[in-house]
This record gives sequence, structure tokens and C-alpha cells, in this order.
Amino acid sequence: MSKELCKLKKSLKKNMKSYVSLVDAPNFVCKKCGRVANAKKNLCDGVKMRG
Ligand SMILES: [Zn+2]
Repeated sequence: MSKELCKLKKSLKKNMKSYVSLVDAPNFVCKKCGRVANAKKNLCDGVKMRG
């Protein structure tokens, strides 16, 4: 899984474990949809939350 989480809604239920592993310690938030993720690459418009 290396796609943007913002576009993964359809496969979320099937891949819940791997999804959680990408968002369990979020550092970035998506400016467009408000989703959070550990890595910027997993968001369509990610920005760092703190620091
Ligand atoms: Zn997004």
C-alpha cells in the first residue's frame, strides 16, 4: 500500500490492518480532506501537523 489514503476508502475495510499502520502515529494532515497519516506521501495534499 503506497497510495494516498484519501483515495483508499473503497479498500479500507479489506486492508484495515495496513491502513492503521499508516495512520497510528500521524505527523501529517491533508489540507483537502482533513485525513491524517504518518507520511506525507499517503495524503493528496499533506502538511506537517506540528514542528
Ligand atoms: Zn486528501
